[in-house]
Amino acid sequence: MNQLMTASYHIETIGCQMNVYDSERMADHIESMGYQRANAVDAADLVIMNTCAIREKAEQKVFSYLGRLAPLKRRHPELIIAVGGCVAQQEGERILSRMPHVDLVFGTHAIRNLAQHIETIRHKRRRIVDVAMDGGAILEAPNAASAALERPSRFVTIMQGCDNYCTYCVVPHVRGPEASRHPDDILEEIRTLAHSGVREVTLLGQNVNSYGLKEGMCSFAELLRRVDQVDGLQRIRFTTSHPKDLSDELIRCFSDLGKLCGHIHLPVQSGSDRTLKRMNRKYTRKDYLNIINRLRSTRPDIAVTSDFIVGFPGETEADFQDTLSLVERVQLDGMFAFKYSDRPSAPASRFPEKISEPVKKQRLQVLLDTQELITRKKHAALVGTRQEILVEGFSKATVADNPTEPRTTPPWTGRTPQNKIVHFSDGNGNGPALAISVGKLVWITIERAFSHSLWGRPVERELDMPSAKGDHSDAS
Ligand code: SF4
Repeated sequence: MNQLMTASYHIETIGCQMNVYDSERMADHIESMGYQRANAVDAADLVIMNTCAIREKAEQKVFSYLGRLAPLKRRHPELIIAVGGCVAQQEGERILSRMPHVDLVFGTHAIRNLAQHIETIRHKRRRIVDVAMDGGAILEAPNAASAALERPSRFVTIMQGCDNYCTYCVVPHVRGPEASRHPDDILEEIRTLAHSGVREVTLLGQNVNSYGLKEGMCSFAELLRRVDQVDGLQRIRFTTSHPKDLSDELIRCFSDLGKLCGHIHLPVQSGSDRTLKRMNRKYTRKDYLNIINRLRSTRPDIAVTSDFIVGFPGETEADFQDTLSLVERVQLDGMFAFKYSDRPSAPASRFPEKISEPVKKQRLQVLLDTQELITRKKHAALVGTRQEILVEGFSKATVADNPTEPRTTPPWTGRTPQNKIVHFSDGNGNGPALAISVGKLVWITIERAFSHSLWGRPVERELDMPSAKGDHSDAS
């Protein structure tokens, strides 16, 4: 393959962490061809849009972004425009008909063919669609060593696809059936990452709780125990979990494994049994509450976040009140909540009793307002405590977040084991000066609480024995 000495690329990513991870793999492939990262989209010779089909709004965003690339292509006819991810998988040829300036449409299983397709387009100026689902999407490991240098925290995909067929969801249709990577491949990737400076990994899958079951490989809990042994790694996270598959063996990991962070994202989607049944979620409200109790008795400081859909077809006001009461009862640390939208090929798109847009909007607002009060209360309770932070980089927090904060140095940012974002200065001029650097674990005293983040200041000593279990109890 010809090496390109001066060509540059830009990848635009929409959607979940799985897409972020896939974009990293795309970058590996095209950097191996000689492409370099462009400073801006209009300076690139190759633009890739990695798309998300999970909600109508995300899909609209894809087409509006692609539309904005048309004038760029007119000015630079050599520009190659590629569309990958779930919308590419779902729409295939239709994208080429609708967007004459797009050169390549590649699906969720075609990332490993990316370099070859780009090469063909460069030389033959042919338009290509590759949306075959052959199951080979995750068999290759990304180029861990090259990617690890800039960030201390990385995603590692452990499985692809989904077999659950929730009635609102397109994932099984656009990412294919569930398939798990071999544990040895996963461990090798994580060892390489840890060796090159990565301190935290997040194990990714649509439903990590069912990892390995289909293939008769080790369970997810067993995989976690093996990852916990990797030298140099300090923190482990995972996402996403399906409540129906959350085993006692996995819950025990939260007390047994020193590197497993005290946070779980456990999507519930609704607090109404009637709606859960129509969503095909295969658990009840009572099951979910039981799981939360078991998690909290095993790891009292665990943070729980969740996903919700409001306005699912047939959702009555009583169903919505059940969702609100569940939120009040569980006292979540945070949530992602969305208005239901019909997705092509998802069964719920054919369900009657659609909920009107104003009602969906109003329910969403009530739900978000309810959660905001809870989150603020939880954040306020952390003021005065010490928290262990993995330093991720410079913060984008503004003075408006904390007008009294001195701005002599840019504030740093990182996360607690419970996944709370903490911004802090290095103490320059107003406290102990510490040698802060990306990838370091530091203790921070929390001084202020906001809706989405906390603000703090380093304590005098640095960590001797880093542990993902952190420390909520020791007010300084
Ligand atoms: S578990 Fe349900 S919501 Fe999650 S990816 Fe699978 S089908 Fe979609």
